[in-house]
Amino acid sequence: MLEGLNKISDIEWEVRKGYVDDMAVPGRIFLSEGLGENLEDGAVKQLANVATLPGIVKYSLGMPDIHWGYGFPIGGVGAFDVENGIISPGGVGFDINCGVRLITTPLKKDEFSGIKRLINTLFSTVPTGVGNVAPKKFSDSELEDIMREGASWAVKEGYGMPDDVKSCEESGMMKEASTEHVSTKARQRGRPQCGTLGSGNHFLEVQYAAEIMDDEAAKAFGIEKDQICFMIHCGSRGLGHQVCTDHLGTIENATKKYGIKIPDRQLACAPVKSPEGEAYFGAMAASANYAWANRQMITHMVREVIERDFGVDYNEMKLVYDVTHNVAKIETHVVDGKKMELCVHRKGATRAFGPGSPEIPKDLSAIGQPVIIPGSMGTSSYLLKGTQTAMEKTFGSTCHGAGRLASRSSAKKSHSGADIRQDLLDRGIFVRATSNKVIAEEAPEVYKPSSEVVDIVHRAGLSMKVARLEPIGVIKG
Ligand code: 5GP
Ligand code: MN
Ligand code: MN
Repeated sequence: MLEGLNKISDIEWEVRKGYVDDMAVPGRIFLSEGLGENLEDGAVKQLANVATLPGIVKYSLGMPDIHWGYGFPIGGVGAFDVENGIISPGGVGFDINCGVRLITTPLKKDEFSGIKRLINTLFSTVPTGVGNVAPKKFSDSELEDIMREGASWAVKEGYGMPDDVKSCEESGMMKEASTEHVSTKARQRGRPQCGTLGSGNHFLEVQYAAEIMDDEAAKAFGIEKDQICFMIHCGSRGLGHQVCTDHLGTIENATKKYGIKIPDRQLACAPVKSPEGEAYFGAMAASANYAWANRQMITHMVREVIERDFGVDYNEMKLVYDVTHNVAKIETHVVDGKKMELCVHRKGATRAFGPGSPEIPKDLSAIGQPVIIPGSMGTSSYLLKGTQTAMEKTFGSTCHGAGRLASRSSAKKSHSGADIRQDLLDRGIFVRATSNKVIAEEAPEVYKPSSEVVDIVHRAGLSMKVARLEPIGVIKG
């Protein structure tokens, strides 16, 4: 509920200092009155709790896809001064570098048939589901390279094209990775899983560009109306999850050691500049690199299938961009006219850097960063561009999806997977999943309406619409 928040505009709300004790800064949430009806009080409280953590700068931020998460809300952004601020695993989440990428093909919707065949082939090609393993189990030294080099490791091994790396946030590799802080258990979990989609919310989707809203940006991003594309959403699998679990232990001890007062145990954190904080950051970066290699390998599998079955040249399937939506990064931002080094946590939030930013591909410098926001298996996904407004208001961030409305268990009770699959098929969307239960848990109805969510970030100027993408075939883990 928006009740108790101060209205700043139709789409911006303030969580005043004092909403919970000890807030160092206020909170800001980007949300409409309509979507605000489903705002969970728990998520607002979490956003306010984040504002109590040491070194927080400006605001604790909520995007319109905000919902309750572990410690920090999902759809949240928190930036902390590197000198006296903290880093927190709860501000990144368990699926480190969960992210999305979009790849175009030269196929056009009206010339394209065979979506069922394509989805069935992809379903048997791309390992999918909780315990599924990759076609190749990597050696310890290969895993080491994966964690250090990320997407470029995969390209070097033949799973892609050199240009792919340039089209990834951070060039698909965080140089701060320090693999010595990744445990044996995390490595064991990671070795058989690089090149697998995972389960539940993760997906591989075939889409078409139904509408172009910004011709200039669409041209620069390489997307045209009616073009067939595919989108991949997955992260760092068991490796990232284990890294988060392992470091939560050491970070909890550090919270006590450094005398940091936290209102919720799940907000365990350590100074950015402490051995514990640095160890977590290094292991988190290694997991992020693993996730980029993972998405790159899946991209390769899909390209090979489309090349073989649809006669499309591999090189003509270009990566538009790859964004991470669960990560902490050290970034320089201008705060009240002054440059500051910040540890920016984006948890269920996407970087949306504006024109001129040195971190985005040079050929897109005049346009802004491509931003990818998925909707659901039955609603629109969007390609947008980053903005200067985002740089000024949200540390260059926007939302990461539509965001969940209902919990997974309540979703299962009210929707049957088989019925949802049939409804979607009637609308021309062919779904394959590891079980009907997953389809029920991931029904379009469990997510907020993606177009309303994206309208808010567009109206707020946090990222501007470039293209609307509609699903025609979906694989769910
Ligand atoms: P998360 O990373 O929080 O699990 O999910 C990110 C977003 O992906 C969700 O908020 C939701 O909007 C979107 N999403 C979930 N499942 C699907 C799907 O099957 N297809 C598409 N296009 N988007 C999805
Ligand atoms: Mn994930
Ligand atoms: Mn995700």
